[in-house]
Amino acid sequence: MKDTVRSTLLFAIVIAFSALALAQPDAASPTTSPTDTQVLLRADAPGPEGRPTFDAAREEERQRMVERQIEQRGVTDEAVLAAMRSVPRHAFVPADLRDRAYADSPLPIGHGQTISQPYIVGFMTETLELAPGDRVLEIGTGSGYQAAILGAMGVEVVTIEIIRPLAEQAAALLDKLGFDNITAIQGDGYYGYEELAPYDAIIVTAAAQHVPPPLIAQLKPGQRMVIPVGRAGWTQNLLLVTKTDDGQTRTRNLMSVAFVPLTGERNGGQNGGR
Ligand code: SAM
Repeated sequence: MKDTVRSTLLFAIVIAFSALALAQPDAASPTTSPTDTQVLLRADAPGPEGRPTFDAAREEERQRMVERQIEQRGVTDEAVLAAMRSVPRHAFVPADLRDRAYADSPLPIGHGQTISQPYIVGFMTETLELAPGDRVLEIGTGSGYQAAILGAMGVEVVTIEIIRPLAEQAAALLDKLGFDNITAIQGDGYYGYEELAPYDAIIVTAAAQHVPPPLIAQLKPGQRMVIPVGRAGWTQNLLLVTKTDDGQTRTRNLMSVAFVPLTGERNGGQNGGR
């Protein structure tokens, strides 16, 4: 089990209201984007008008997933629940795993990566406290499912994936499904995407060794970032980082999670690439 709360830990959530040493930024890190990014899909109707409607395939499985895995575990944001009831998760998993698309677990999507457990998607999305029209940066497009949930909520999404085949596949799928409010980029998300900054919220779906300073720089004052921080290979702390009006950050540990690592050269040397 790779990128989510291990089932045995799911209800043993540790809520700690203190800043963590792991979350301290590396002062030497640059705050500008590298130039080797490529836009694969560009939002042309940012905001609520860019969201598509979906057919009802596997409707029953999806409703059951939302009721039992998301609502019953305490996610109440109606916009998040509505998006998760509508987005066809089965379209984002490999064909031979479609029958498990609505199961209570992450699933492999190739290249050693995973689509996150539905509950984690719901919880992290709710934590961002989004409003329609917000601009949200996601690091770690993966299958594109998290980006689709955000897009279905009527926010403008900018999503970055480091592994080119995954980035291309997700961009093509999001385009095919009709999203006009998602910009999909291939590149190293450690640096964020300065061209479209600042962001109303940032969601990182891979485990970082520290909170990347470029992401803090690209977050609007008063706004929120949710990010797993810790060593790869076991559990990490899912952090809520709030940027204060004077540019400082406040950090709260929400729960233990187990994500695949954030790769790339700047992530504290972790994994050194893909
Ligand atoms: N949000 C995804 C979804 O809905 O399917 C799941 C993401 S998966 C748990 C983490 C993803 O982060 C992987 O696809 C991985 O390649 C990507 N990733 C890791 N390091 C990255 C980096 N530095 N920049 C961008 N993406 C990165």
